[in-house]
Parts: sequence; C-alpha cells; structure tokens
Amino acid sequence: LTEVDCVFCAIVAGSSPASMLYGDEQVVAFLDIRPVNAGHLLVVPRVHAALLSELAPVIGGRLFQVGMALDQALRCSGVRCDDVNLYLADGAVAGQEVPHVHLHVVPRFRGDGFGLRLPAGYGRRPEREALEEIAGWIRRALGEVEDAR
Ligand SMILES: [Zn+2]
Repeated sequence: LTEVDCVFCAIVAGSSPASMLYGDEQVVAFLDIRPVNAGHLLVVPRVHAALLSELAPVIGGRLFQVGMALDQALRCSGVRCDDVNLYLADGAVAGQEVPHVHLHVVPRFRGDGFGLRLPAGYGRRPEREALEEIAGWIRRALGEVEDAR
C-alpha cells in the first residue's frame, strides 16, 4: 500500500534517494534531509499510514524497537551524541509535516539549542480532583479503543 505523492512512500519504494540506515519487512530508517543535529534520522513504516490510528499496533511496536536500537547505535557511532530524543508528531497540529507516520531519533548534546517550548502557565499543578476527572475520560476512551481492536 503506497500513496502517490508521498515522499516517504517514494523512499520506501526506492524511487526517491535517501541515506538508508536499516530496513526490514515492516520499517525502514534513513537520515532526515533537514537534520536538527548531524545523525538525526527517521524510522518509517513501509505501509502508508498518515496517523498512528491508521497503523497496525504491531508495526507501531516495531517502529519503536528500531528507534531504540538506533538510539543505541547513535551513541557509539561517532556523531556528536550525549543523549537522544525520540519524537513522534501524530498529526499536523502536533507538528507533523509529512503525513506518513515517522519516528524522529535525534542525537542531542548540551547547548545544541533544540528543545520543546512550554506554554505559558506550565508548572502549575492541578487539583487531584481535576486530574481524576480527566483520567476518567481517558480511561473510558481507552476502553472503547481497545474494544474496537
Ligand atoms: Zn506514505
């Protein structure tokens, strides 16, 4: 299953160039062409899925497994890497720029200038009651998601 005009499907199909790092039956990994830091890479499912909700859970699991292996590889690869961020934007509002699921694996070093910006008011602790109300909404929704599987 590939999507016409999807840049990651084109890489998976081999019709678009990429600096490949890894491939198996479910996922491939290659260097990001606009790296935050040298060695910034992406792990991508072979199957086209815009959002995690469209991706088989087993493939999502594989995505993370391969991301973990590449995290370890980056640390001893020779690229500047003190620690690593694994980052996945699920949807455009969350910062997803290519609508084909991808896990960023970003080598980090002190002072590299990368980071998540926190909203105004961050750090304030809601009352337990407010946390419990929201937890209830999410537990109910999780039940529905699991029932639908
Ligand atoms: Zn695609």
